[in-house]
Amino acid sequence: MMTRKLPIIAVATAQGKAGVGVVRISGQNLQPIASSLFQKKLSPRQANLLTLCDEHGEAIDQLIAIYFAGPASFTGEDVLELQCHGGPQLLELVIKRCLELGKNEGLVIAEPGEFTLRAYLNNKIDLTQAEAIADLIDAQSEAAVRGAARSLQGAFSDDINNLIEEITQLRILVESTLDFPEEEIEFLENAQARQRLAAVKEKLQALRAGAKQGKILRDGIQLVLAGAPNVGKSSLLNRLAGEEVAIVTPIAGTTRDRVKESIAVDGVPMHIIDTAGLRETSDIVEAKGIERSWDAIRLADMVIFLTDAQVGNQEDALKAQILKELPPKCAVLEVVNKADLLPESPKLPSDQALLISAKTGVGIDRLKQKILEIVGWDGPQEGTILARRRHLDCIERAAEHIEKSEQFAANGNNSLELFAEELSLAQKHLGEITGKLLPDDLLGKIFSQFCIGK
Ligand code: GDP
Ligand code: ZN
Repeated sequence: MMTRKLPIIAVATAQGKAGVGVVRISGQNLQPIASSLFQKKLSPRQANLLTLCDEHGEAIDQLIAIYFAGPASFTGEDVLELQCHGGPQLLELVIKRCLELGKNEGLVIAEPGEFTLRAYLNNKIDLTQAEAIADLIDAQSEAAVRGAARSLQGAFSDDINNLIEEITQLRILVESTLDFPEEEIEFLENAQARQRLAAVKEKLQALRAGAKQGKILRDGIQLVLAGAPNVGKSSLLNRLAGEEVAIVTPIAGTTRDRVKESIAVDGVPMHIIDTAGLRETSDIVEAKGIERSWDAIRLADMVIFLTDAQVGNQEDALKAQILKELPPKCAVLEVVNKADLLPESPKLPSDQALLISAKTGVGIDRLKQKILEIVGWDGPQEGTILARRRHLDCIERAAEHIEKSEQFAANGNNSLELFAEELSLAQKHLGEITGKLLPDDLLGKIFSQFCIGK
């Protein structure tokens, strides 16, 4: 992790031409740099129309400079924002000039994410908020934008912190019982403690449900189309992709695979792999795409096994190979295609199975809804936050410890120590979500809250 103290600089806006391009500088004291750039001291939080000149005194750009004095800034350090004209060459010149003039102060080009990292290290934001900034920028649907914005506002962190606080209260009850047995606080008889534990469990469940939705919204669904040749996999992919008004862009950095499409259904990204493309391996470039498809199959949330209504179930070596590679939690949906070729509805292979026609579009809407239903998407909901696998893992681990604590509580007073230990482990995992280290001085908190002499 990059924890250097030097002042850093970078272009904050996107590559390419634009009306305005922003250069951002962050450092512990930027007044000397500001002075050498503009020959004047900048008052904080004021828009200053200034000219940046080269070493011959010739203007590079007329720009608006805003000085944020730390800690009241994004990073918590001094921040200098230069709103320049948005030409890529111009911005490069501005950066070059700033580096020259900031040389004595040690000004360097920022690493990716370094501004946000500083904001985190200086306690301006917590870990979930830092993640939310990245998610907000990467968001591929309106619902994802709103979810990330909520996390950035602290909605997710607040929920976590409230839960941690409630567990702390519960621990205070237990620990005071342990430390002062002569008080004979009948902990397990204490209805308040039981109620609190039940409340914690309930909130944790709600948090888990919310994070699960948030993860679907953020990561989307990895959907694999499998089946014998000619059943209509590619046609179905085209139908799914073609019908969507909003085709989301493929994952950054990869070219658009012929065998993969990303679409949004109800704001949920669906990344669809057409395994028909896996058969053709002659081309080297294509082989790369195929390898990526196999990687996606190993991460699949769901596989659609497509059959031809006229033919029925077919033996297929590739299908068997795909089945072998699917992760254990992957859901399977049987879909019968080419409904248009039959005079009447055939008998379907299972209750869950769907009948469609990739050609006419019959059954496609139901198929999309079914996919969302199977992965557990509850539909766009007020207050959905964007979440990651990491968050869900932490929540699940915390839930396991709460379950265990419940068992120890049921065992009676002899297990109170173990009960407390499980509570503290649950807290630890929740604390990992926001990145906040738990204070060791829980005891101090206990004594400040509990009046023993009462
Ligand atoms: P894949 O090998 O599984 O990808 O199958 P394709 O999508 O290439 O389709 C194989 C053939 O079936 C093509 O001639 C398609 O036009 C045809 N086909 C696909 N879906 C349908 C459908 O719903 N109805 C009819 N009548 N033909 C279809
Ligand atoms: Zn644990």
